[in-house]
Amino acid sequence: MSHQGSCHCGKVAFEVEGEPTGAMACNCSMCSRKGSLLWFVPHEQLRLLTPDENASTYLFNKHLIRHRFCPTCGIHPYGEGTGPDGKRMAAINLRCVQDLDLAAIPVQHYNGRVA
Ligand SMILES: [Zn+2]
Repeated sequence: MSHQGSCHCGKVAFEVEGEPTGAMACNCSMCSRKGSLLWFVPHEQLRLLTPDENASTYLFNKHLIRHRFCPTCGIHPYGEGTGPDGKRMAAINLRCVQDLDLAAIPVQHYNGRVA
């Protein structure tokens, strides 16, 4: 099973392999502003349908996560980082995936606020 997602204008589009069984809502200074619901997957499950450079990159705090966003419409469809085991991970913003029943996906609240 795979799902397609994109930013608002379509400049950044992707397909992600798998079925989300849960999402994370983080209250850090970044996520609380974005309102994203994140689904973490191994990076190879994320397949970009548009060139990688279409998405700009925002770094903050310890620069561990590359927050990727569309420079045209400003939407943040996904982020990239490294898991505890050293593997590349992607954090998919489920709000950018169209064919999901978000209300049916349990949301776990994560306390990511550092200051
Ligand atoms: Zn866009």
